[in-house]
Amino acid sequence: MTIVDRLNATRAAIDRAARDCGRDPAEIALVCVTKTFPAEAALPLLEAGQRVFGENRVLEARAKWPPLRARYPDIELHLIGPLQSNKVKEAVETFDVIESVDREKIAHALARECERQGKRPRLLIQVNTGEEPQKAGVAPKGADGLIKFCRDECGLSIEGLMCVPPVGEQASPHFALLSDIAKRNGLAVLSMGMSADFELAIQLGATHVRVGSAIMGERDYASTAA
Ligand SMILES: *Cc1c(COP(=O)(O)O)cnc(C)c1O
Repeated sequence: MTIVDRLNATRAAIDRAARDCGRDPAEIALVCVTKTFPAEAALPLLEAGQRVFGENRVLEARAKWPPLRARYPDIELHLIGPLQSNKVKEAVETFDVIESVDREKIAHALARECERQGKRPRLLIQVNTGEEPQKAGVAPKGADGLIKFCRDECGLSIEGLMCVPPVGEQASPHFALLSDIAKRNGLAVLSMGMSADFELAIQLGATHVRVGSAIMGERDYASTAA
């Protein structure tokens, strides 16, 4: 199977999962996660019509995507990894969607930087549904407060929520929790589900699935500069 075969197989699986639960496949965006892969790996995907991509590191994305954007101006690039205060400027310059807003300090810095650059990337809040200490994301009990802070104190419009369930746990309770938090805050976008569980995430309401290895193949972290 080529990378394009795997892209097409993933798209077909998304369509099937959507129809199986009575949803319109057009409601579900495929974010193809290209982290650790070089720019050339994305080219066949772009040629096959894929436009939405995810990266987890700001600097890696800045090195990789500007030349691709020059050829394909309608690329939509998502930041799916943790955001540090000292990378906010670069993140606002580089990404169309930032999925990892997770604390007041970052929200505040984003608001200032968006104002300065006159840019409005779409924003999601990452929720640490498993309350894992090493993982980015606001704790579930802090989510309502952070959403309100973004809206009321920073004038930021939040579109939705993102989560990465703990490895080795059933993902469904985490997806259901994310969906509950979104509903009670009137948020339409749910970024959840990766290679192993995007079909389940679609059943539970995902509007964005972030699929890496099922399309790109296994990642080789050793060969990537940190
Ligand atoms: C790497 C990554 C993905 C993709 O994971 P796969 O299991 O390779 O599909 C999705 N979301 C986030 C936040 C990631 O860091």
